[in-house]
Amino acid sequence: MTTTLLIASTNQGKVREFYSLASGLKLELVSMSDIGPMPEVAETGATFAENARTKAAAYAVSSGLITIADDSGLEVDALGGRPGVLSARYGGDVPFAEKMRLILDELRDVAAPARTARFRCSIAVADPSGRIVCEADGVCEGTIAQEPFGEGGFGYDPVFVPNGYVETFGQLGPEVKDSLSHRANAFLQIIPYLRGLT
Ligand code: IMP
Repeated sequence: MTTTLLIASTNQGKVREFYSLASGLKLELVSMSDIGPMPEVAETGATFAENARTKAAAYAVSSGLITIADDSGLEVDALGGRPGVLSARYGGDVPFAEKMRLILDELRDVAAPARTARFRCSIAVADPSGRIVCEADGVCEGTIAQEPFGEGGFGYDPVFVPNGYVETFGQLGPEVKDSLSHRANAFLQIIPYLRGLT
């Protein structure tokens, strides 16, 4: 019998990436849109790992399925690590174009060498009782571009240039992103556990 894994995110960008990262595994993947509405989970933790655990456990209990969740965000060194765990809420409930503009304005006087940043991702997997059975952290180092470039990816991708490249994640496309992103990095570490489920 094939094991079902719930990808617990309402962010379609993340869901697409998880489907791609897990495509080689013999698991039946389902997303929140496949199983209908579930109670919202407040992301009140102080760390990515804490929020990932909370989401995985809550959605696993609600769905009765083995569940993977992530919490992720962008840390900009010149901003003291902001937006960090508040990445989704930075600048309030405004479109990402405005969140990126806010960061670019804050970095107006910061020259290229000091525009270092990283995406972080914590992943947690919970069983249907809500017990955390596997977790991992991933990082992707890079810099913040002078302006947004590219339409690909989601969130802050158009302003993030991963180290070793001159284009942003918004320009590089899914294959490059899925080969080196923070999410891919964290996911690689949990593959042995997921293989054990098949
Ligand atoms: P979460 O849903 O609380 O984990 O929010 C994560 C937020 O961090 C997203 O809404 C994006 O703002 C940002 N973020 C996380 N991962 C990525 C990524 O891979 N690309 C661009 N933005 C990201």
